[in-house]
Amino acid sequence: MARCDEGYLCKVCGDEVSRLIDSSLYLQYVIGWIPPEQLHLHPDIHLKCNPNLSQFIDAPEFFDQVFAEGSFDRRTLDSEFVAQRVQLITRGYMRLRELQRDRSLPIEYYPL
Ligand SMILES: [Zn+2]
Repeated sequence: MARCDEGYLCKVCGDEVSRLIDSSLYLQYVIGWIPPEQLHLHPDIHLKCNPNLSQFIDAPEFFDQVFAEGSFDRRTLDSEFVAQRVQLITRGYMRLRELQRDRSLPIEYYPL
């Protein structure tokens, strides 16, 4: 998912993270969890390979939802905490979809 054509490899499954809308790294960037200067320091993970994060995406467009296991399963967490996470992370995901459609925006304008 780099600006060059060479994508990052998923830390979990080893396949290339070829699309913005599959990228945990960029999702965390658009919601402000990863500052831009640290983008290249973090490994990327497909959203579908990262249930701790992607279980909070509540969008019909996201087909890959899997719940995290054990004590991180969103269904076992505090409902107010879950509601906040869902709101933020779903917005981040919808933002990635927008960015995926319009690739002309410079990366510093990606965040919400
Ligand atoms: Zn993966």
